[in-house]
Amino acid sequence: MKFGTKLLHGEYTIDKTTGALSVPIYQTSTYHQENIESLGEYTYSRSENPTRKALEGTIASLEGGEYGYAFSSGIAAAASIISIFSAGDHLIFADDLYGGTYRLASSIFNRYGIEFSFVDAGNLNNIKEAIKQNTKAIFLETPSNPLLKITDLKGAIKIAKENNLITVVDNTFMSPYLQRPLELGADIVWHSGTKFLAGHSDVVAGLVVTSNKDLADRIYYIQNGFGSILGPQDSWLTLRGIKTLKARLDIQQSNAIKIANFLESHKNVNKVYYPGLDSHEGKGIHLGQSFGPGAVLSFEAKDYLKAKSFMDKIKYAAVAVSLGGVETIISYPAKMSHAAMPSDEREKRGIKDSLIRVSLGIEDVEDIINDFSKALE
Ligand SMILES: *Cc1c(COP(=O)(O)O)cnc(C)c1O
Repeated sequence: MKFGTKLLHGEYTIDKTTGALSVPIYQTSTYHQENIESLGEYTYSRSENPTRKALEGTIASLEGGEYGYAFSSGIAAAASIISIFSAGDHLIFADDLYGGTYRLASSIFNRYGIEFSFVDAGNLNNIKEAIKQNTKAIFLETPSNPLLKITDLKGAIKIAKENNLITVVDNTFMSPYLQRPLELGADIVWHSGTKFLAGHSDVVAGLVVTSNKDLADRIYYIQNGFGSILGPQDSWLTLRGIKTLKARLDIQQSNAIKIANFLESHKNVNKVYYPGLDSHEGKGIHLGQSFGPGAVLSFEAKDYLKAKSFMDKIKYAAVAVSLGGVETIISYPAKMSHAAMPSDEREKRGIKDSLIRVSLGIEDVEDIINDFSKALE
């Protein structure tokens, strides 16, 4: 079965008890037990819920994995993954992971005795050099946010395997339609389901997938023990969104390619960051480990004033944090995702005050191009 078919005819797309084409929202906290000597499959909704389970099975299957888990947000998913490690363990983080993931390491879990190193994973030697006696895992994200930097997943996974480390990949920007790190040998993949998977800017959710039984047991232990589960209503919204993942992303990606080309040739744009462009240095590696460049890009306007007036004038796009919705969403990293970073640190990382991130929606691309064109004048 190919990916688009799997979205609609997977194991969990039809409700097993009624045949309903939409898995019901099992809005229940607990379940009647017929026999106290052998409890049923469902006992309490923190531990398991049929709507959540349908979502967990669905994401596992789409990522090419065995075990899926749904959390109350992407960050709850990441926190739960880090929680399978212990004080004294050392974890290597790519230095341009999503800001909230970075914050988990740099100001929350560091207080519990887990050690972190932050490395530029664009150069695999940096990963090698950061490995210590107590290193347990490498956390990666590719393409990265907001500069769409590419990490060589196969190369990084090879180093991890040689050193007995677990590879964890944030696959939010690509979704399993465009990139499947488990198939390349990664051990754990996670998502902010808030973005492309749910796809409609209406739910906050997190998802984790692995094929390794031992890791799955450890993640489930944290999910049930820590309790940051996704509720049945939000599980249902995410499941519904997933059905159109391919249909949405095909349009979004095609719009992104056209907008990237339009921006690259515009006189008021200095630089475009998009792994589908020949000018992107990571293009070759990215296309060798994924199925497309995706629907997110960033660009530098000529200067700060042009960036500001672009954001003021744009009509057919929301100016907001987040991405992956059906509507085009524009964000301004210097004041949004990276506002907590001092401006010299931001500049050092290449996140200029003229940088704008765009997540393409499913609008008619002619309208988006016209709108961008006017807003850039
Ligand atoms: C949004 C995002 C997250 C965090 O997910 P939430 O659902 O907001 O908690 C993590 N990684 C990436 C790449 C994201 O874009």
